[in-house]
Amino acid sequence: MTIMETLADLHAHLVDSWKTLTPKGNRFFGVFNSHKNFPRDLLLKCFETAQKTRTDILTTIVNFDDDRTTGIFEEIKRYSQHASLKDFRRLEYAQKGKLLSVRVGDLTTHFLPGREIRTENGDILLIGNGDDIPSRKASDVFKTAKKRNDSLILVPHMGFPKIGMRLTTAINYRDYIDAVEGKVYATEVHRAELKASDSHTLRYLFSQGLIFNNFDPENPVESLREGLSTARHYQTKKQPGYCEMARHVASFKAADWLLASGICTEEKAQ
Ligand SMILES: [Zn+2]
Repeated sequence: MTIMETLADLHAHLVDSWKTLTPKGNRFFGVFNSHKNFPRDLLLKCFETAQKTRTDILTTIVNFDDDRTTGIFEEIKRYSQHASLKDFRRLEYAQKGKLLSVRVGDLTTHFLPGREIRTENGDILLIGNGDDIPSRKASDVFKTAKKRNDSLILVPHMGFPKIGMRLTTAINYRDYIDAVEGKVYATEVHRAELKASDSHTLRYLFSQGLIFNNFDPENPVESLREGLSTARHYQTKKQPGYCEMARHVASFKAADWLLASGICTEEKAQ
């Protein structure tokens, strides 16, 4: 039996904005970030990456406060039921617990929900469940996530002003943390290094990631946790730069303005 490796992007938002609807009822995903058929484009990107790397694929869909995770999961399921992808044969999908898996031929792509929580002490990224933790204090988020025991507990973009956790805080909560972004910080905190895209467009999804040789779909969070320290780093030449950061900032400001001005409407919760 050949053991498939799994390329994972453990920090992917996929779109800049989710709940803003144009007057025609289409979604405003962001500036220079539009799709006629988002689930199709997402699956094509995942399967093309699988073909290129000869690995299974794991994409996380990380929520802010707009419920994009539930929405995108539903769109993938609906699309997979009715369509076959250009250049690919028929799609099969299965949901086990929180893990959604889509197969076409011998290629598999998995999706796991996540949640990024902006605390007073910097961002904390939880991968595996997707539900919010109401507190915005790092100590509460760490303790609740550890108690729930249903998510990887990751510290993204450490050292960045406003959004990154300080080294002293991460060291204080070392026992709660599974991996830290940034080689120097990961070494200081004595945790595995997180490599992920933090992408808000499909263009940068899998611009970097981690390759696991032990991913178990029956036990996704536990197997990822065990594999973090030995996972290989994956990086492409196409990395987001300042232009992409500016595009992302312009996108969520534009979404706010379009809603406030009444040009766009906000999608109502189902
Ligand atoms: Zn993020």
